[in-house]
Amino acid sequence: MSEIDYYELLEVSRSADKTVIKKAYRKLAMKYHPDKNPNDAKAEEKFKSLNEAYQVLSDQEKRSIYDNYGKAGLEGHGQRSGGFSGGFDDLGSVFEEMFGSAFNGGSQNSRQQRKKYNYNLDTMVDVKLEFNEAVFSCKKEIKYSYKTSCTPCDGTGARDGKLSTCGTCAGQGQVHARQGFMTFSQTCPKCQGTGQSVAKSCKKCSGHGFKENTDIFKVDIPEGVNDGMRIRVSNKGNIAPNGSRGDLYLQIAVKEDTHFIRHDDDIYVEVPLFFTQVALGGNINISGLRNELELYIPSGTKDKEQFKFPNEGVKSVQSHRKGDLIVQINIKYPQTLNIEQKELLNKLQDSFGIESKLHEKNFDNMFDKVKKWFK
Ligand SMILES: [Zn+2]
Ligand SMILES: [Zn+2]
Repeated sequence: MSEIDYYELLEVSRSADKTVIKKAYRKLAMKYHPDKNPNDAKAEEKFKSLNEAYQVLSDQEKRSIYDNYGKAGLEGHGQRSGGFSGGFDDLGSVFEEMFGSAFNGGSQNSRQQRKKYNYNLDTMVDVKLEFNEAVFSCKKEIKYSYKTSCTPCDGTGARDGKLSTCGTCAGQGQVHARQGFMTFSQTCPKCQGTGQSVAKSCKKCSGHGFKENTDIFKVDIPEGVNDGMRIRVSNKGNIAPNGSRGDLYLQIAVKEDTHFIRHDDDIYVEVPLFFTQVALGGNINISGLRNELELYIPSGTKDKEQFKFPNEGVKSVQSHRKGDLIVQINIKYPQTLNIEQKELLNKLQDSFGIESKLHEKNFDNMFDKVKKWFK
């Protein structure tokens, strides 16, 4: 499908909110709808791209993945390049939600032919990863369940697979409501637009239309995945009565580390330094993500000061470029001093020419100044 930026396609800014996006989509989809442009392959292609863009940008989760990782983020690690989740099944519902029955010529027929089985083909499983597993890649055993169609009812959930005409919409798939002189149409809530409903439930599956199966397989989790990402494993989803199979999505959850803090592909680490180390300056060794790193501390470094090690962060799952490792200094002072330490510090202070009675002297000066104001 198209490689054009979704925002450009819908002619909206990257910060556009849901309403703006919906409006833009509606306008363009009306213009390029196949019913309005019969036998125009270009318009059809454009219409498909618009739908694709709208599906992503109208879904907050998909939109944020797209913003952060582009299309590749939405496609997991490119197992099905060029494809797109959902396909035309989902487009039907987006389209319908937007237009109601405005164009119910061709689209309604295709909707009725669509699916008679009672479940979705794509499915999802949560995958929990340790911090280092996400940063450095790993092999994970995935145990999950998927649906196959119930044989006696062929996935319909109806006894012997016999569906009857939906009573709510009389088989039309649409219900109409009058308001003043206008008539509004919407998808029949009972049959979801198929025009058919279940009169008697299938005994074997209690009307669900499917049975659950479990499977275990091993998958390579790529280096650099992060919390909240979704990886698509094609052809591991639920199976339709005709044998076609959906995709499985791995919803990634990453545990936090006690030492390293991850922000996108950058890593933050706090390094505690004793106040004398900071005063003296010098080189110290710190543990980076992959190896030990040497950090030069200039004398006089301040608390919370940061030092950056470029390319020592996480390798981006999208661009394969490495983020940075950022060290933040946390200066520690002694909580208590013994007599010897106190003496040494006093000596040190004297050597800088700082008198310990300094504060009182300052106060005296201040009082003198204030007195002068009232003279
Ligand atoms: Zn109905
Ligand atoms: Zn059944």
